[in-house]
Amino acid sequence: MSVLSSSSNGKITFDPTAVAPEPLPPVVASDGDHAVTATRERQIVLGKNVHTTCLEITEPEVDDESTGDKDAFMAGVLARYRKTLIERTKHHLGYPYNLDFDYGALSQLQHFSINNLGDPFIESNYGVHSRQFEVGVLDWFARLWEIEQNEYWGYITNCGTEGNLHGILVGREVFPDGILYASRESHYSVFKAARMYRMDCVKVGTLVTGEIDCADFKAKLLPNKDKPAILNVNIGTTVKGAVDDLDLVIQTLEECGFSHDRFYIHCDGALFGLMMPFVKRAPKVTFKKPIGSVSVSGHKFVGCPMPCGVQLTRIEHINALSSNVEYLASRDATIMGSRNGHAPIFLWYTLNKKGYKGFQKEVQKCLRNAHYIRDRLREEGISAMLNELSSTVVFERPLDEEFVRRWQLACEGNMAHVIVMPNVTIEKLDSFLNELLLKRAIWYKDEKVRPPCLAADIGKENCVCPLHK
Ligand SMILES: *Cc1c(COP(=O)(O)O)cnc(C)c1O
Repeated sequence: MSVLSSSSNGKITFDPTAVAPEPLPPVVASDGDHAVTATRERQIVLGKNVHTTCLEITEPEVDDESTGDKDAFMAGVLARYRKTLIERTKHHLGYPYNLDFDYGALSQLQHFSINNLGDPFIESNYGVHSRQFEVGVLDWFARLWEIEQNEYWGYITNCGTEGNLHGILVGREVFPDGILYASRESHYSVFKAARMYRMDCVKVGTLVTGEIDCADFKAKLLPNKDKPAILNVNIGTTVKGAVDDLDLVIQTLEECGFSHDRFYIHCDGALFGLMMPFVKRAPKVTFKKPIGSVSVSGHKFVGCPMPCGVQLTRIEHINALSSNVEYLASRDATIMGSRNGHAPIFLWYTLNKKGYKGFQKEVQKCLRNAHYIRDRLREEGISAMLNELSSTVVFERPLDEEFVRRWQLACEGNMAHVIVMPNVTIEKLDSFLNELLLKRAIWYKDEKVRPPCLAADIGKENCVCPLHK
């Protein structure tokens, strides 16, 4: 049923009582002549944009102001959109976004065009900025990652990707002829950086947990001892939540003859950069170790209505990279020009409210709930893995794409994952599991279709497919 319908005068009318359809991305067939059979795979048709979910923009009619028709129409669209957001927020498990926050106190600021363009530490001539909040947030992260106020430089980015683009750029500027090394399970933004900056990039193998394989790293380093090494170290990989062993990486570099002035390490902590400091036994990310930069996403574990992130590096590296821009009366050391001035205020607000203790509690809850769902999956005979320092539970990919999209799971090959964030409660996990069990009973009711084998992805010991149980 369509919520929008054409009335007799050709105008689109809005039916507020209609049930909002789930705004699922469309399933697209690869070939117009064949029936759509893409139940398993959502195909991306290159070179063809799909417009089926487009909300068209229409020119105002001359009499709109007097009739108020258009205002009413738009208000209706927004109200309906809000409903679908509430619904989609309820069924979200696959991406590492904390959807639980209350920033009501900040709504008074949305009327301002707050822009921190340029350097956070140098005021530009544009006065509507939030640098005082930004620097406060950066100082908090400097304390977390143990670097003195006058020794670091950093800024609030648009996202974790921008942090990676910046960290790797700093590495490249420090070592123009350096080779970039990154495990093959690194986030795609790392390889994007390599392409953008036209760097030599060597992919390093991984262990079954998803961690970088330092034996392979050594083998790849040794033939390139004449070139400096620029390294991306994962503090939580995207798919398996694996934490690279930073100490072993540094030790491997040293063993291969790389002195500290011959390598640069960027730590991609998009998700776990903010969870690890609160996990007992977890290896420490700190500037007391020979690392060059750390980045984290602000909208993931912290939770924020707009994407954002934090990037910190050593001030000495920034001097190599930046140039002065007269037009800004500032220094140009960021990737972007204009920068979201609202994001620092959101981060400032939530860091103040929760504090170290609050984050610690939330991390503990996430890890507990992640263990819970891993154990429940295994009890039900479903292959599942949870890395020790992680709240990312990897399990068998559901057979049916509809189910994947309903729960907004992220999938790769035979794997799917659930990422337990602070807004993911036991009740939500139970309702997910119950639905999965009902569906599995249908998918696998006769023996012809079997659950996938995950031994190659998560190890034999975590696989309970018919072959490995
Ligand atoms: C999410 C993620 C990124 C990218 O962060 P965005 O904020 O989505 O740009 C980078 N690295 C890892 C490991 C991630 O999980």
